[in-house]
This record gives sequence, C-alpha cells and structure tokens, in this order.
Amino acid sequence: MSAIAGNLQAVLARIAAASKAAGRQPESVQLLAVSKAWPETCIRTAAAAGQRAFGENYVQEAVDKVMAMRDLDLEWHFIGPLQSNKTRLVAEHFAWVHSIDRLKLAERLSAQRPGQLPALQVCVQVNVSGEASKSGCRPEEAVALCQAIAVLPGLKLRGLMAIPEPADDEAAQRAPFRRLRELYEHLRAAGLPLDTLSMGMSHDLEAAVAEGATIVRIGTAIFGERHYA
Ligand SMILES: *Cc1c(COP(=O)(O)O)cnc(C)c1O
Repeated sequence: MSAIAGNLQAVLARIAAASKAAGRQPESVQLLAVSKAWPETCIRTAAAAGQRAFGENYVQEAVDKVMAMRDLDLEWHFIGPLQSNKTRLVAEHFAWVHSIDRLKLAERLSAQRPGQLPALQVCVQVNVSGEASKSGCRPEEAVALCQAIAVLPGLKLRGLMAIPEPADDEAAQRAPFRRLRELYEHLRAAGLPLDTLSMGMSHDLEAAVAEGATIVRIGTAIFGERHYA
C-alpha cells in the first residue's frame, strides 16, 4: 500500500473513533483531502485509494489540477482566500467554495456560475477567533450575509466554515468550534436551511468532530508536510 493510502485509512479511522466518542455516525463526517502544494501524482494516488473530494487554496494551481484530472470523477472544493478578480475561474471549475466572507464575492460567483452546471455549493467563513485572525466575517455579520446569499440563483448556501487559531489541548481547540456550531444552530433556528459545518484540520479533527463538524479538511495527515518551491 502507498503511504498516502495508509494515511487515508488512518485519517478515516480517526474520524470513525471521534464520531463514535461523540455518539455520531462516521458517515455524518465527510473527509475533504486538502491537496494544495501536492502534484497530480499524489492526488491520483489518493483517488485510486477511494478519495473523491479534494480541497485547494490557490486559484491557478487548482485550475491546472482540475483540468489535468478531468478523466477522474473528482469533486473540487475551493477553501482559500479569494480575491474578487479570481472569482470567474472558481465559478467555472469548482463544485464548492468554503471561504466566502463578503457579499461581493458571492454575487460575483453567482453571476459567473455557468448555467449548465449545478449551483455552486457555498459556506460562509466566520472568524471565531476574534482579533487573532483576519479571515472570515464577524459572527454578528453572519445572519445578514447568509440571508443575502441564500437568494442568489447561482449558489446553494450549505453552511459555515472556520479556521481557528491553532491550540494544543482539546478544550482550547473545542471552544471556537463550539462558537461556530452555536452560530450555525442560531442561523438554522432563523430559518436558513444549513446542513454543513466545515471545521477541523490535521491537528484538531477530533475536537471538530466532537463539536459537530460535517466536513473536516485534512492535508498534512494525508499527504505529509507541505513544501512550496
Ligand atoms: C491547508 C488548509 C487545510 C489543511 O490543513 P492541514 O493542517 O494540513 O490538515 C485545511 N483548511 C484550510 C482552509 C487550509 O488552508
């Protein structure tokens, strides 16, 4: 077995154990393999081992990979910071975007989504770590932003995403994930049809699953440490 296939199995086992500990079904947590910085061969190896959903952060790198792997039936998620002038490529090449933090991005993605494709599945990124982090909308902005996105024809609003500041112990890891889940429940109570909590990375997936993650975004634990040239 390749190292990547073995790592994938180990990550799926971590998800299963964390789900069981939280009294959840393992199938309620989807694994998104974050393949930024890794070449096509690594993604093909993961795909051969059964992985279908891949996350990318940088538009041009990602589009090159999407085009090169059209022969595989993969699902591509954009999870990185997005500039307004790059939305068209994302609208044309991705199934999901997790990192929407302002209405302008959502409006552009909706307008630019090709009509022959299904609606772009989107999450609103929320800053649940306060001053320490710059990306994501403020929690108090999330209701209005979600309500505005929910009516855009080219998008399907699915849920919330967060990247908390790294923390070492599980209690500290869980606090921001819990804030995101409470916000998600508040939005659902307000009538927004959300079903997705995108939270948890290699070092904190157990804490995220304990707090209700439905998608965990895992890079290092599958592919190894990233080195950019
Ligand atoms: C890189 C990245 C990940 C994966 O992080 P790992 O620590 O390598 O698992 C997840 N989410 C986002 C938004 C990222 O940029």
